[in-house]
Amino acid sequence: MNSPLDNCRQKIRSVIKNIQAYHVADARGLIKLDAMENPYHLSEGLIAKLQVRLSGAELNRYPDPSASSLRDKLREVMQVPQDRAIVLGNGSDELIQMLAMAVAERDADVCLMSFDPGFVMYRMIADFTGINYVGVSLNEDFSLDMESIRKAILESQPAIIFIAYPNNPSANCYNEKDIEEIITLAPGMVVLDEAYHPFAQTSFMSRLGDYDNLLVMRTVSKMGLAGLRLGLLCGHPDIITEIDKIRLPYNINVLTQLTAELVLDNAVELEQQATLIREQREVLLRQMDALDGLQVFPSQANFILFRVLDKNAGDVFESIKQSGVLIKNMKADSGLLSNCLRVTVGTPEENEAFVTALVKALAE
Ligand code: PMP
Repeated sequence: MNSPLDNCRQKIRSVIKNIQAYHVADARGLIKLDAMENPYHLSEGLIAKLQVRLSGAELNRYPDPSASSLRDKLREVMQVPQDRAIVLGNGSDELIQMLAMAVAERDADVCLMSFDPGFVMYRMIADFTGINYVGVSLNEDFSLDMESIRKAILESQPAIIFIAYPNNPSANCYNEKDIEEIITLAPGMVVLDEAYHPFAQTSFMSRLGDYDNLLVMRTVSKMGLAGLRLGLLCGHPDIITEIDKIRLPYNINVLTQLTAELVLDNAVELEQQATLIREQREVLLRQMDALDGLQVFPSQANFILFRVLDKNAGDVFESIKQSGVLIKNMKADSGLLSNCLRVTVGTPEENEAFVTALVKALAE
């Protein structure tokens, strides 16, 4: 006879049991350059204002369910066109989930398309929601393989196409004309995931009005507010209204609403940090380019992808970790990410510690 625990396990879908949980590495005691976070804190002046604002938070009350005041602030700061609507998510991860839930149909062959290597949550959420994931392989230089994409769109008729712009983990922005063609060819929604917008400074936000099937997704995570969990999806009001029905009523908590609004009132502070990070990215790219034994890919984001040429990337990763710096091992033996590692741009001191650790690892 099955135990109650066996019975419960049997009820869980096999697609879920086969998924490897999203792994977050333990960074205790290490310089954390693995998760594309902004390394800077808010200024003391802004923290003092925040303390006053948060002391008035009504924690006994549910938050404003539509977070309308925060949405207005985001519209202004992120220059969302007036005729386009906004829905907020508990991080943009939650928005990806809402989009998938909106199209998942029992017993139907629904497809979510993106490009590989790409952001892993697109595939994971497709699995969670029972949607087929089609990942069209990128070219070797991580550009879009338009011939394969045209074919795949025709064959799979994707309900949603996710385009990370810039892409994670390759850090490049795709060709604009290619994206325009995809939006035109797509039989459903196209989501431009602009998570790394502060570092790329190029965007489709102002072009939302040109395409009714285009949605632009942003997050405050990479701007320096990853702890708040706040993302936004912008697009045609008729689409956003439907997505909003899936949103759980109080998904943006009181503390996030108050904090985000105050910090966005002082957005210039975050923009200054992004400028510093972009400058440091160029310094780091130059330093890494000068090293033998690496292939360093160009970056328009706050991280850099690089391939270790004559050594095992896993060994290099471990050696860097032993030196006290945590980066990301892409763990690929073959394919476009083979022997690749990814490092987030940190403060000048953190980057220096990384380069020193990298030089040591390559010499071992
Ligand atoms: N999109 C991309 C391309 C990402 O790399 C990430 C996070 N690494 C996200 C979305 C999710 O961001 P958030 O913190 O808003 O959930």
